[in-house]
Formats: sequence, C-alpha cells, structure tokens
Amino acid sequence: MTEAELMPEIYTPARNDNGLYYDNDSFKIPRHGMKCGCSSSTKFVKRANFKSHWKTKGHMSWLQKLTEDEKNTFKDNVQHVEVNKQQIKQLTEQSIIIARQSTAYMDLNDNYKKVTKQNEELLNDNYKFRIILQKIHSHGHCNNQEVEEAIGLD
Ligand SMILES: [Zn+2]
Repeated sequence: MTEAELMPEIYTPARNDNGLYYDNDSFKIPRHGMKCGCSSSTKFVKRANFKSHWKTKGHMSWLQKLTEDEKNTFKDNVQHVEVNKQQIKQLTEQSIIIARQSTAYMDLNDNYKKVTKQNEELLNDNYKFRIILQKIHSHGHCNNQEVEEAIGLD
C-alpha cells in the first residue's frame, strides 16, 4: 500500500439544488479512517463518532459558511451578468453611433464627388468660353463654326 492510500478520506457534505449544504448519511468510512472537511485534526474510524461530530458547533458553522459562500458566489455571478449586460448595451450604442457617423461620412463623400463633378464641368465650360473669347480678340468676331468647334471640345 502506498502512503496516499493510507491517508484518511476527507468528508464533504451534500448540497441541494438551492445551494444549501447538509450532512449526508450515505457516506462510508474507509478502513484507514476519515477526516471531516471542517477540521483536519480528528480522524474518525467509527461511523457513530463521525455522526455525533456533525452536531458540534464548529461543524455546523462550517456547513453554514459553505452555504453562505455559495450564495455570495451566486450573487457575484448575478453582478457579473449585470456588468456584462451593461457592457453589451454600451457596445451596441457605440456601434450605432459609428454606423451613423459612417452614413454621414458616406453622404459627405457623395456630396463631395457631386461638387467635384460640377466643378469639372464649370472648368470645362470656362475653357470653352476662353477659346471663344480668344477668337473674338484675334479677329474681332467669332463665327458660328468657331463657336460650335469650341462647344464641341470636351
Ligand atoms: Zn465536521
């Protein structure tokens, strides 16, 4: 037998669905004894001795503490879920703002493209008028053919 096999088993209480810890009668004491989870000092070999240990103040307050810890863990989890919900809400709001800004940016970009196109058209018209003006300056007038040639330029 190894030393590990000779170590007394450590008793752990049962737990019901509401997180309440209680002593469970169905335990078996191994031949090399059993220790209680509430205190490491006493080694029990007899079942009756172990069951009377359950009635001690120390053991009962241990069960109570386990139950309290369980409740606190549950409370912590509820708080974490609440925090997560808040974070998801904030992220969703930020996503909406980003989507709005992106739409606004695309609108601005579209407008910019339109204005740029209009500007190009105006510059082109300006160029045509300058050619017509040059003709007028060079020979005092501009005939229909010259005007049509200038307008036909793109
Ligand atoms: Zn105990």
